[in-house]
Order: sequence, then structure tokens, then C-alpha cells
Amino acid sequence: MSQQYRITLLPGDGIGPEIMAVAVRVLKTVGEKFALNFEFKEALIGGAAIDATGEPLPAATLETCKQSDAVLLAAIGGYKWDSLPRHLRPETGLLGLRSGLQLFANLRPATILPQLIDASTLKREVVEGVDIMVVRELTGGIYFGQPRGIFTTETGEKRGVNTMAYTESEIDRIGRVAFETAQKRSKRLCSVDKANVLEVSQFWRDRMIALSAEYPDVELTHLYVDNAAMQLVRAPKQFDTIVTSNLFGDILSDAAAMLTGSIGMLPSASLGASNPGVYEPVHGSAPDIAGQDKANPLAQVLSAAMMLRYSFDQAEAAMQIEQAVLKVLDQGYRTGDIMSEGKTLVGCQAIGDEIVAAL
Ligand code: NAD
Repeated sequence: MSQQYRITLLPGDGIGPEIMAVAVRVLKTVGEKFALNFEFKEALIGGAAIDATGEPLPAATLETCKQSDAVLLAAIGGYKWDSLPRHLRPETGLLGLRSGLQLFANLRPATILPQLIDASTLKREVVEGVDIMVVRELTGGIYFGQPRGIFTTETGEKRGVNTMAYTESEIDRIGRVAFETAQKRSKRLCSVDKANVLEVSQFWRDRMIALSAEYPDVELTHLYVDNAAMQLVRAPKQFDTIVTSNLFGDILSDAAAMLTGSIGMLPSASLGASNPGVYEPVHGSAPDIAGQDKANPLAQVLSAAMMLRYSFDQAEAAMQIEQAVLKVLDQGYRTGDIMSEGKTLVGCQAIGDEIVAAL
């Protein structure tokens, strides 16, 4: 009997539909090979949802996601929707999805592939062997804290406000995910904060230290976020697993992404306690190259592999996808963002054809 999995597809905006089409072809191919029966349901999010329904996250989309076994998301956003009020922006749909599914942990691997070392802007000796996992808190901190808004003070001056706040339980649950992730890797966890300036960060650090008593096999260290940013580009190999808050994680994971040469290569997983996980590339909707068949679909394809591994426990199928990606790179195929001398430049769908062929 074949295994049955319900997957909600959220192609979103910009290059989203192009890269999603490649990932679906790859999933169908691997599904046939491993007798996995995928039932795909497409739903609207972001700008596409705004155009069709007036809202960035229609209730029907959230419901469809909740009823599936996993969600594969591409990317949202674009110039067209940038001037809408905040509650109607595509990004609000993404934040709504994360909080609606209570996805509090975002796992972002930044692994340098030997085939792409020359695509990194850093020197070979700095990036060769980099293998970092950033565990970012996703449903708390300054992106959700209250009060927030732009208010008028008593003197008539306008004032913008956001609030960075974390409860003990919010820190502890992301801390546990991070310690357990580090246990499966090389047992080194670096917690990044700004405890020298922010009380919320001091509390974060105190909780991480308290939690570390439960994980004596993991070596816990701490860095201030400014130093962490510097160390990431100076000597990235010192890091294994990094745990940090929502805002710092947003920034550091993009910096870690660039160590690997292209943001178009990096998958991510967002996990909660009980709802389906959401798998998506780290990059955005790349409106500058949308509709031109120039997008790199590999992060989307690798996100699908992460979905097979973390949500469906299909490690062998996941590995075959990852190996197919490596094989295509070994064969010299490259999209524009990872192109280097002597390689063969191909478009989004053509590199997809090669992955399917490699499978
Ligand atoms: P971006 O990641 O979309 O693009 C940054 C740069 O990287 C661009 O030059 C783009 O062409 C390139 N790039 C990104 N993905 C690529 C890929 N797969 N292949 C080749 N090149 C790729 O970030 P941005 O320009 O800051 O944002 C564009 C839009 O995306 C905005 O509306 C933003 O809000 C949105 N965004 C969405 C997400 C998400 O859906 N998770 C994340 C970040 C940004």
C-alpha cells in the first residue's frame, strides 16, 4: 500500500509559481519511485490572495493548511503591494500563517556545497566546510509584541513603537528545539542576544543557561548579536547550531545564507508543537527576475526534501532529492545567481528537468 500525504501548496508571488512548479515535478517523480501518494491542494497567500480576495491570508487558506500533513510555501511579496496599509500587505499573510499554525521554531541550515564554493563572496578557506543551523524563534519578540503602532504624543509629535518581549515559556520551547537540534549535530550551541543592552535579552540568556542543565552533553556559548554578525563573516566555521530571537534570527540567517553563495540555495523548516510544518526557501519572491525563467528553484526543491525528512519521516526519499541536486551541480548546470566560469547557464525549468532526470 502506498503512503498517503496531503500537501498544501502556497506558490505566492513573484518567482513563487515558477519554483513551485519545479518542486512539484520533483515530488511527483520521487513519489512514484518510493510509492508515496501525494495529494496536492493549492491555496492563495500574499499578493496573489490580496488580488483575488482582498486579504493576504484568506481564512480558507489557513483552514486548508491546518487540514494537511505539511505545507510547501514558495514566496510572497512584490512592488505592487508595497504601498498598501500594513494589515493588507503580503508579509502580513506570512506572519499570520506562522502565528495561525503556531510555528514557533524556524530551522535554517546554511551549508556550503563543495560545488558552489566559488559562488561565495568570501575566500575559499573561510567558507570551505561551513555547516551551520540557525534556529530562529518565529512567533514572538518584536515582530509580535504589543504595544505597536505609530502614535501621536501629547505634544503632537508622532512616535513609532514596537515592543520586544519574551515569556519564559516562549524562550524555553525554542531553547529545547535548539538544544535537541545541537544534540543531533556536533553538540555546540551558541545563543545570540543583546544582553548588554536589552533586559529581554538578559532574560533570554538566563533561561538558556537554566535550560543547559538539562542538556549536559551540549556546550552552550553566548554572543552579542553585533559580534555574532562579525564572526559569521570573519570565521563562520566556529559555529554549529545558533539559537536566537525573531529579529536577530531574521538578519543573521540571511547573513549565513550569503556565506553559501546564493540565497537561492537555502531551504528552511518552520515547526510547531502540533500543526503541520511549513517548508519554504529562505529567499523572497525576487520580483526583479519574476516571470523570466531565471529563478534558482534549488532552495524550493531542497525545502521539499526537508518536508519529506521532518514531516513524513521519509529520509531516503529526501536524500535522493538532495543527491539529485548535487549531481546536477556536478554536471555543471547553473542558474544565473550561482553561475561561474566554465559552467552551463540554464533556466529555472531546465534545471528542474535535469533534477528529474537525475532522479
Ligand atoms: P529576495 O530574496 O526576494 O531577493 C533578493 C535578491 O536575491 C534579488 O536580487 C533576487 O533576484 C535574488 N534572489 C532571491 N531568490 C532567488 C532565487 N531563487 N534565484 C535567483 N535569485 C534569487 O528579497 P527582497 O528583494 O528583499 O524582497 C523581494 C520581495 O520578497 C519583497 O516583497 C519581500 O517582502 C518579499 N520577501 C518574502 C519572503 C518570503 O516569502 N518568505 C522573504 C523575504 C522577502
